[in-house]
Amino acid sequence: MKTVLITGASAGIGRATARLFASKGWQVAATMRKPERETELAKVKNIRLYQLDVTESEQQVARRVDAIVDDLKHIDALVNNAGIGVFGSFESADFELIQRQIETNVLGLMRVTKATLPHMRAQGTGVIVNVSSAVGRVSFPVQSLYNTTKFAVEGFSESLQYELRPLGIRVKVVQPGSIKTEFFNSLIVTKDDALPAYHAYQEKVLSNLRRLNADGSSAGKVARVIFRATRDRSDRLRYVAGGDARLLLKMRKVLPDGLFFNLIRNLLEK
Ligand code: NDP
Repeated sequence: MKTVLITGASAGIGRATARLFASKGWQVAATMRKPERETELAKVKNIRLYQLDVTESEQQVARRVDAIVDDLKHIDALVNNAGIGVFGSFESADFELIQRQIETNVLGLMRVTKATLPHMRAQGTGVIVNVSSAVGRVSFPVQSLYNTTKFAVEGFSESLQYELRPLGIRVKVVQPGSIKTEFFNSLIVTKDDALPAYHAYQEKVLSNLRRLNADGSSAGKVARVIFRATRDRSDRLRYVAGGDARLLLKMRKVLPDGLFFNLIRNLLEK
């Protein structure tokens, strides 16, 4: 039986991905910060719940991943999905928030990857799917911190694929567009009363982002792309999820910077 470890499986894309892999006959290690709160997934055939906070220490994450792989006997796939969004003007974000954004989306993903690699290396096989975003390739206003993390995931993954290929380990990047999950409800929005210069601009952009998210794709759509990427034995690195992301990434490719920035301004600053 094929096995997959998914981070951030308590909600949204991670949850839909756990369900999809389980329905396809995979044994799923659905990891989350608070498995004791999860009642629904615990009852699904082929799903086992495990505690994993990706911001724990490197040693603790390694212990948890070792225990999971011990349980599953082997690990065919890792889906690095856990993520948070810290939105708002950069100047209004204190350093604790900046660190939290990077800790979760970048260092957390690296911790889990590092803990998984010894197992995949010993097996001589495995696939690592990193959930990035369309904003891993293009930038949106008032997302400088979130953008930083997704650009980092892209660069990390693109480099990593070279050194892991000779070891039989594939790396995949999934780039969702706007997806209707808990993400926008869980956003951490920075706002500093002492910096009113940003307030109106930030409100306008955020309200446009929320409006676009209301028409976003489903988490199930991303789960299907993650499943396809996991099973794709080719060297392809990137997989786009959602029509909006596909259009945006195509525009980014063909338009010069100036025209592309105007397009983003028209979309989000009006
Ligand atoms: P949700 O907010 O619905 O789910 C996020 C998941 O990440 C939750 O399960 C949450 O767990 C978990 N998580 C957060 N922090 C940690 C942590 N420290 N350790 C372990 N798990 C953690 O968002 P999505 O499903 O939409 O997001 C999933 C991924 O998709 C993220 O990487 C996000 O950046 C990316 N993405 C989302 C898009 C969207 O429009 N929604 C678009 C593009 C990419 P808990 O329940 O404990 O908080």
